[in-house]
Amino acid sequence: MSRFLNNAFISLDAYTPGEQPRDKAYIKLNTNESPYPPSPETVKAVSSSEVCDLNLYPDPTCKELKQALADRYNLNENQVFVSNGSDDILNFAFLAFAGKGGKAYFPDISYGFYEVFCELHGVTANKIPLKQDFSICADDYFNKDGMVVIANPNAPTGLCLSLEEIESILDNNPDQVVVIDEAYVDFGGLSAVALIENHENLLVVQTFSKSRSMAGARLGFALGNKELIADLEKIKYSTNPYSINRLTLIAGVSAIKSDSYYMENCTKIIKTRDFVTKELRSEGFYVLPSSANFIFAKKDGIEGKRLYEALKEKGVLVRHFNKERISDFIRITIGTDAEMKSFLQIIKEICEEEVK
Ligand code: PMP
Repeated sequence: MSRFLNNAFISLDAYTPGEQPRDKAYIKLNTNESPYPPSPETVKAVSSSEVCDLNLYPDPTCKELKQALADRYNLNENQVFVSNGSDDILNFAFLAFAGKGGKAYFPDISYGFYEVFCELHGVTANKIPLKQDFSICADDYFNKDGMVVIANPNAPTGLCLSLEEIESILDNNPDQVVVIDEAYVDFGGLSAVALIENHENLLVVQTFSKSRSMAGARLGFALGNKELIADLEKIKYSTNPYSINRLTLIAGVSAIKSDSYYMENCTKIIKTRDFVTKELRSEGFYVLPSSANFIFAKKDGIEGKRLYEALKEKGVLVRHFNKERISDFIRITIGTDAEMKSFLQIIKEICEEEVK
């Protein structure tokens, strides 16, 4: 830290992304990426002629991409916002709808970035404990005096709220924005997009990073009523109007056009997830029922950190959170069938060696 850093950021505890080591080839099950490549159409779309246009700025209105998303989700173009990953959009939402001196409410165990955005923007973070079984109690989010943020499915648990529960949260916070972070919704959750029509306080945030195999392109979108979207545009145009580069814009449009390819991959991932869940349970693991592209699991007799380390030693990366209530768990991203078979084999070896 330099002596020039503004006082406001001296104690800021930045987000720690999952590790991306380059020392050897790992089976990489730690950052919830898709194990499948983008569609052939997407690969073709980002062609060399597009690269040749990189001397020109991209379209700041992102019109074509917004239109494609609006058609896909049965909304108007002015109900769609796009930016550089959903992290970018969540950042804007914390700034626009909570801001300095404002408040935000989210589960104590959820996506770690929410807390970071609070610190960054001077928002008071109110963390509401999950129930004993790690589920969210919808009633705990009623009548709040600040923005409500819920990941559905939640991360890292993979558990879902029903649409009725989400609607009850919306109905009981008519004067607050409720952000539903649907990063993982395509893997078995039900989207709240259908509730936008009757709830002007709902902002649904999604990403191309998981179900659409484009984590490296950095593309996220938000859906909501046109005033909320205009607010986000105002923030974007006050920071970086060109937050999506030309290649990502094109990749995004083609991804929506080849949606069935991506949705079929989701079906494959769900099948693999259910197989791995069953296998781990028969190995004596406690596995939360996941609606995401990852599972959250633990086994009596072996600490989460040790399990993480033992897997890494054997070439498998998973994520461990050194946090109260969840330090015994590891989060395992669902890879291809072949990757997950190797993972299960290695887990069996570790259990034989460690759990005596
Ligand atoms: N929300 C949740 C719940 C996530 O787990 C992630 C991925 N780390 C994000 C949002 C951000 O995803 P991205 O910025 O890649 O769109």
